[in-house]
Amino acid sequence: MQRIGVLTSGGDSPGMNAAIRAVVRKAIYHGLEVIGIRRGFTGFIEADMEPMRLGSVADIIHRGGTVLHTARSEEFKSPAGRARAWENVNRFGLQGLVVIGGDGSFQGAQAFYREYGLPVAGIPGTIDNDISGSDYSIGFDTAVNSAVDAINKIRDTATSHERTFIIEVMGRDTGFIALAAGLAGGAESILIPEQPFSIEDICDKLCRGYRRGKLHSIIVVAEGAAGGLEIGKQIKQRTGFDTKVTILGHLQRGGTPSAFDRILASRLGAKAVELLMSGATGKMVGIKAGRIVDSDLDKVIACKKTVDLDMFRLAGILSI
Ligand code: ATP
Repeated sequence: MQRIGVLTSGGDSPGMNAAIRAVVRKAIYHGLEVIGIRRGFTGFIEADMEPMRLGSVADIIHRGGTVLHTARSEEFKSPAGRARAWENVNRFGLQGLVVIGGDGSFQGAQAFYREYGLPVAGIPGTIDNDISGSDYSIGFDTAVNSAVDAINKIRDTATSHERTFIIEVMGRDTGFIALAAGLAGGAESILIPEQPFSIEDICDKLCRGYRRGKLHSIIVVAEGAAGGLEIGKQIKQRTGFDTKVTILGHLQRGGTPSAFDRILASRLGAKAVELLMSGATGKMVGIKAGRIVDSDLDKVIACKKTVDLDMFRLAGILSI
């Protein structure tokens, strides 16, 4: 193997740059050449590609986003789109491809591998942490820390004004960010799509809290569980409490990656290159119980990762 490509795809996440850096430097260390593909599969189709050198990834380990940029490409979902990308594989002499992204990006990588046999290695990069085969995906830790920072700040106002605050966090159709941020932020209630909830129960809990002298309440809502505004409206209607809603939105996607995400990205990037060099393909690298592992992309795509319900119950116990 002499030359590999690397791209970032889907939503950006903090730590993707550290992963790109690790892929480029690990590959060069072993004498490989690396072609950076800009704007994900869109740039793959449009030949928006150029060689990367040691200096191409200098001074990026601490930056959020992705220097290769990212995109969502409808065209790559079709065989015709992938055929155009295959022309560029030949044009640039690629013998392997590292795809940093989420579930959809891995489906694209797998489809491409099936059709053309180009060895691929996936690196999980998404703040949602919804990828099976890895306890953590790159960007999740930073996103949770950003959400907890926001909760801490909102808590100051919540206490001063004796208000109930609803904080809506990201996570698509999963509650990983909500659960982690809610537990770390000491939320009174956490609403996640994986667990049914009732507004009556939430309101009862709020009222109990106020009766025993609580000055404020924080409720963390995963975007996939309910709309924060709607929950705020219903609570206000039922309890009459002064209720404010904050939707954190893209604040959670940006920012300098945490040390955890940088270290994870560095380890996963290096492992992805090792896998390609060893002749493995159709794999995703991940971390399980602290160890760097690899899994079949087929399995990763087929399995749904679930939140830790013990942790959810613990959050409930600690916020009685
Ligand atoms: P995130 O979780 O941050 O949204 P993602 O990788 O899941 O990341 P998607 O938009 O689902 O983001 O997928 C990224 C790109 O992967 C798509 O725009 C498309 O180009 C490609 N892709 C997704 N699904 C498929 C598929 N079934 N076949 C081929 N390509 C696909």
